[in-house]
Amino acid sequence: MSIKVLLVEDEVAIRKFTKINLERAGFEIYEAGTGEEGVEVAFRERPEIVILDIMLPGIDGYEVCKILRTQMPEIGIIMLTAKSQEIDKILGLEQGTDDYLVKPFNPQELVLRIKSLIRRLDYKNEKPVNHDSLEDGPFKLDFYSKRLLKDGKSLDLTPTELAIVKIFLMNKGRAITREELMELAWGDNFSGDNKIIDVNIRRIRSKIEENPAKPIYLQTVWGVGYRWGD
Ligand code: CA
Repeated sequence: MSIKVLLVEDEVAIRKFTKINLERAGFEIYEAGTGEEGVEVAFRERPEIVILDIMLPGIDGYEVCKILRTQMPEIGIIMLTAKSQEIDKILGLEQGTDDYLVKPFNPQELVLRIKSLIRRLDYKNEKPVNHDSLEDGPFKLDFYSKRLLKDGKSLDLTPTELAIVKIFLMNKGRAITREELMELAWGDNFSGDNKIIDVNIRRIRSKIEENPAKPIYLQTVWGVGYRWGD
């Protein structure tokens, strides 16, 4: 079964060109020219990945991201922007995007980013041998429902955030460097900014910690990286 990718982009030329390249890479492509249409197609086709332009007629990419994250937290989202000034805003999104690319982009780079994201989706879903869940203190990472629970209550983590939490729960107490996290969660071929790791850590903390400024679960190891403590 091929991976379903939804392309939400109002510029027809960019959409067609991107579609051809992604199909060549073996993905099954669905298209939408507006945010509203994007949401509709996403609900109907349940794609694994959404490529989401920010500037769209009607509801914009930020709004679409918010709707999709609320309704389909398991979906992988890569945002496209024409303005590099938007990057901080994209990374700061409360609900979170999994990755981003600045236009104009090389379609091969987009293919690599999609493959890296699929790797994270797979890594998140792949059960460790003999485990249906990983537990620590109030937390339970449930591989059946693909959710992280705290005291039995589901926390809405993005696929990337779940992949990161899984790495920490499988390596309790061990300090993990940014480079190692990058390799485990994003894969060797990831050419994006290291900053995306710190952004994801910050977002995970805001969801799992009582006081994200004084984290007790996802701790900083100065000069090294991060560690899951207890
Ligand atoms: Ca646009």
